[in-house]
This record gives sequence, structure tokens and C-alpha cells, in this order.
Amino acid sequence: MVKLITAIADLRQTLAGARAAGKSIGFVPTMGCLHEGHQSLIRQASLENDLAVVSIFVNPLQFGPEEDYATYPRDLDRDCQLAVAAGAGIVFAPAAAEMYPQAALAYAAVELLGDGLCGKSRPGHFRGVCTVVSKLLHIVQPERAYFGEKDAQQLAIIRRLVLDLNMPVLIVAVPIQREPDGLAMSSRNRYLAADERKRAVVLYRALQEAQRVFAAGERESRMLKERMAAMITAVPGAAIDYIEIAEPQTLQPLENIQDTALLALAVRFGKTRLIDNCLLTEGK
Ligand code: AMP
Repeated sequence: MVKLITAIADLRQTLAGARAAGKSIGFVPTMGCLHEGHQSLIRQASLENDLAVVSIFVNPLQFGPEEDYATYPRDLDRDCQLAVAAGAGIVFAPAAAEMYPQAALAYAAVELLGDGLCGKSRPGHFRGVCTVVSKLLHIVQPERAYFGEKDAQQLAIIRRLVLDLNMPVLIVAVPIQREPDGLAMSSRNRYLAADERKRAVVLYRALQEAQRVFAAGERESRMLKERMAAMITAVPGAAIDYIEIAEPQTLQPLENIQDTALLALAVRFGKTRLIDNCLLTEGK
């Protein structure tokens, strides 16, 4: 049975015991409302470590004032069941007051990498992510921490955070899990009305089309982005936030693709903002 812990001190004590017993710890930070995407991270963490720790925390610091912090779906009982089914040994689900007992004066941030892509329409988001991930890594002190490629910008930023600040943890990237029609799994998919849900498959189709055109030899970012934009704007209710082609580590926009590039997009359906991405790789 999974052990549910809500206090930082309890978690530290339990993990100190596990470490003293020689157990390796794998950590999966989440905001809950777990789905198959999260479960693939947890499964990998439990395969590669003696103990898989999953955190479930809707982090207020990474939401803008107009965003869905208050309405973000929360269901701890269901999350615990899905976490244990995927191999979690411990679920850490602190209250906001446990993580932020007073207004924070210290933050963690990675410069530049958070300025473009999602950072443009979500100012402060990545500082909130870096801060909570730093806190959680300090609390859990895992050997390995697992992040989904679904959030490619977040992954690049966390890699740089850990590298620049010499955090003793290996960051493991896990491939995007998709619904049968190709839509990337996301806790926010449940916000979509039935017709929006059907139309949302255009994100994946547009990525696939870009991959096809890239494989046929197109290397100019503008051409690929225009092709995708035409597909997406043809779908009623879809509003493009961005389509960008960037260097995968630095996230700097690329006009021309040399070998590998990150192709990332964000599209709104009504109030729901969906993201997806893929790599454009020579020879693929
Ligand atoms: P979230 O709960 O949205 O903060 O996500 C927690 C972790 O799960 C992040 O590392 C995400 O990148 C990852 N994740 C979310 N959706 C997926 C997915 N469809 N496939 C793989 N990983 C995912």
C-alpha cells in the first residue's frame, strides 16, 4: 500500500530511513489529476529505483492571476490509487501552507530559457516551476527525478537549473504519452468540450505534417510554421498562441534547421490552452 505523507518533516524522516537502508530514490513531481502520462514516469521511476516518490502539489507560484489555480482538478484518493498502480511507494501531498508557510523571499530561476515559447504568455511561470522543483529536490534528495518530454521547455529549464546549481540529481526525460487519436495526454484535456476534444487532434496532426515536410527536405522554419498555422487556423475554435522552432537545449529560435530542432506549439480552445511538441531530427 502506498504511504501518503503530507508533512515535510515526516517525509524527510521516512526518506532518511530508506536511504540508511541503502535504498535508491526516484522522484516524480506532479500537480496531480494523474493520467497515463504521469503513470509512465512513475513506472520508470519504480523500475530504476528502489523507492518511487510521487509528489502531488498544485503549485500556486507557477500560476498567473488569470490562470486556473483555483479550478485545477484535484482528486487525491484517485491519484493515490493511480500512483500505487504504477509503482509509487510514497505519495507526498503537502498543503500550500506546508510548502509556503510565509510569502517567499527566495526563488530559483533560469534566465533566458523561460523568456520565449510558453514564457511569453505565462510570465513568472517558470520561476514558479524552478522554485517548487528546487524545494522538492531539496526535500526528497532523489538520485533521479523524472520529467515528461510533453513539457519540453520545462525539461530544458530544469536540466539547466540542476546543471548550473550543481544539484546532485540525474534528470530523466520520459516520452510523451498520447491518446489513441494522438492528442498528448494532459490534466487539462478534461476542460475540453466534446467538440473541442475532437478538434484538438489538429495539434498532433500539424506536428506530424511538419515532420513529414521536414523529412522531405524542408529546412526553413518559416515554411514549416506557416504550413502548421494554416492547418490549425482552419479548425473552428482553435487559436494559436505560438508555433516555434528552437534549438532543443538553449531554446533559441532557429530560422533554419541544421540537424535537430524542437518544434513546439501552444493552441487555445476557448479557455483551455494545450501544448505539444516533437523533435525534428535529421534522418527521421
Ligand atoms: P503536471 O502534473 O502537468 O505538472 O505534470 C507532471 C509531470 O508529468 C511533468 O514532468 C510532465 O511533463 C509529465 N507529463 C504530463 N503529461 C504527460 C504526457 N502526456 N506524457 C509524458 N509525460 C507527461
